[in-house]
Amino acid sequence: MSPYEPVESPDETTIFSYHSLTPPTTREIYEAQRIVRRYLPRTPLVRSESLSADLDADVYLKREDVLPTGSFKIRGFYNLVANLNREFRERGLITSSMGNHGQGMATAAREFDVSAVVVVPETLENPTKIDGMKRLGATVVRHGQDVDEAREHAEREAAEKGYRYVHGGNEPHLIAGRASAGLEVMEDCPDVDVVINPVGGGSSAAAYALTVSKLLGADVVGVQAAGADAVYRAWSEGIIELQDRADTFAEGIKTRTPFALPLGIMREHLTEMVLVEDDDLRAAIRQLLVDDSVLAEGAAATSVAAALQLGDTLAGKTVVLPISGSNLSAEKLREILANR
Ligand SMILES: *Cc1c(COP(=O)(O)O)cnc(C)c1O
Repeated sequence: MSPYEPVESPDETTIFSYHSLTPPTTREIYEAQRIVRRYLPRTPLVRSESLSADLDADVYLKREDVLPTGSFKIRGFYNLVANLNREFRERGLITSSMGNHGQGMATAAREFDVSAVVVVPETLENPTKIDGMKRLGATVVRHGQDVDEAREHAEREAAEKGYRYVHGGNEPHLIAGRASAGLEVMEDCPDVDVVINPVGGGSSAAAYALTVSKLLGADVVGVQAAGADAVYRAWSEGIIELQDRADTFAEGIKTRTPFALPLGIMREHLTEMVLVEDDDLRAAIRQLLVDDSVLAEGAAATSVAAALQLGDTLAGKTVVLPISGSNLSAEKLREILANR
């Protein structure tokens, strides 16, 4: 069978025979960390005095926003591209993205001299992210009204043209690479009680689940925007369904589709999932900027908004809040600061 023919998929997305749905093992996660370390600095874990006071807890920010491209996504791609066979390196990569995933892929592809196509929806209004992808040498194609329509286009192109389709969630190498953040948290803060992390496709929450939860026994809480709760529903009900709508300004987590692999890992290891309103994300962005001098984009502010929402239940605990990305457009930032 040709690797460029889609195979039966357990979720609403297209997969190919090269998409494994088996979670990475602990050994594979440590192997991925060795690769990631060659290319990326360890990110700082910084105590937030204001959030520690607000929550009567020890609160640390895991500063993934300081990575090249301004988000954690890049961690996965060095591992994925390093593990590609020659045929796929020659054919090149395609993915769909709201920007950060595409920037991460473009960076690693450039490092290994592999071509990269990123399909973004026509509606994506974030010049920071789009210019970033182009600057890194990716071919940016605009298609569809949202990331799920962009994804379907990327899937068709992969089948027709034989690109290696980099799935947004069903990629053990991406999850293993992103789990290097969890290993860093384990080393820097072995007494962590809970990690509260955004969930879009769920690769990052799955990565913390396979490290701080599975290996250390800490809680991992996943957060979605109330208007874009596809994974929250799938996690709660155990049914994978494509939703009709996803509504949030936080484009990094604006998705209508649960992905089978990260969802399965989250169902096994996440303690809880919570929803936060967009207004709470705006307030969290302001608080991070004013009190902690941290610029967080909407998706990244979910961890802080959820912590403030969980409030008393975190008292006395050691809490790690990953700041997953900083690519907020200047226009959005202006609007958020003006409307307080
Ligand atoms: C993609 C993204 C997320 C969500 O990550 P998933 O692994 O898709 O769940 C959160 N924050 C930022 C900044 C992102 O770019």
